[in-house]
Amino acid sequence: MKRFALAVHGGAGPDSNHIKENMDGYKQGLEDALNAGYAILEKGGSAVDAVEAAVNSMENNPLFNAGRGGALNEKAESQMCASIADGKRHKFGAVAIVKNVKNPVSLAKAVMEKTGHIYLGGPGALSFAQEIKAPLEPDAYFITEHQYESYAEAHEKKSKNPQQAAKEQVESRMHGTVGAVALDSHGNLAAATSTGGTEHEKEGRIGDSSMVGVGTYANNDTCAISTTGDGEYAIKHTAAFHISAIMEYKGLSLPDAIQFFMDEKFKGEKGDIGLIAIDRHGQVSFRFKADRMHRGCRTSAGEMMVEIY
Ligand code: ASP
Repeated sequence: MKRFALAVHGGAGPDSNHIKENMDGYKQGLEDALNAGYAILEKGGSAVDAVEAAVNSMENNPLFNAGRGGALNEKAESQMCASIADGKRHKFGAVAIVKNVKNPVSLAKAVMEKTGHIYLGGPGALSFAQEIKAPLEPDAYFITEHQYESYAEAHEKKSKNPQQAAKEQVESRMHGTVGAVALDSHGNLAAATSTGGTEHEKEGRIGDSSMVGVGTYANNDTCAISTTGDGEYAIKHTAAFHISAIMEYKGLSLPDAIQFFMDEKFKGEKGDIGLIAIDRHGQVSFRFKADRMHRGCRTSAGEMMVEIY
């Protein structure tokens, strides 16, 4: 059987006491996500199904900023974004600002498979979820104590000094976001990303995670990528497609294309960025400019690793 491999991330960004106190839980969560995706690849399943399963596992885990446990917006609501990319068929699916959908990445996959569209947002995305009977949950399911406390703290800061709070928010927002990239045994690449967005973000804000070519991209000829960090910076530099295009147009390897992107495009930027990527040979790359990026990989060659710093 040909080499297959999977990598996941659980977000890049500032460090926190919450992360330090829950280190074992985060590592276990990354491992569970790797195992969920790997189980599919091992049976000869597709990279698309594997990245969906890995991301679902982290969406269901309240420690990660996606699905249950996602960051809350300025109105203390959970507004979620997700996307998925199929490198073989060059097909994509994305959803933005969805509420009450248990697994936004699966909704993004359904958009890709069933609608003839690529991107659904807001109430229309929710209607589509109802139409296909995607699992829904009440608001309370998504809101964890930790996220509510973070929201309340940010809210208080903003009420006292809005300008300072806005500045701090751009420079050191708490992030999470989850993502996965995979190469299956048929040689196909896929990527997926899902997020609760950034802490206390504006109602209606859409970050990089649901944007095809920014937060998520896959092309069998180059690589599959999922990004995390300050979404506005990834959007500004069209991160995921950019790296794939550098490989395609300049003939660089994946690690060299990432290096080129970071040196030539991202250099000097204040924001955090993190990414996981895999090429068509199953070589995994991790890169982050942040205090930490929760990450891990598992390959058919027996490699398995999970790291945070
Ligand atoms: N990139 C996400 C966003 O900007 C946040 C994150 O990765 O933590 O919405």
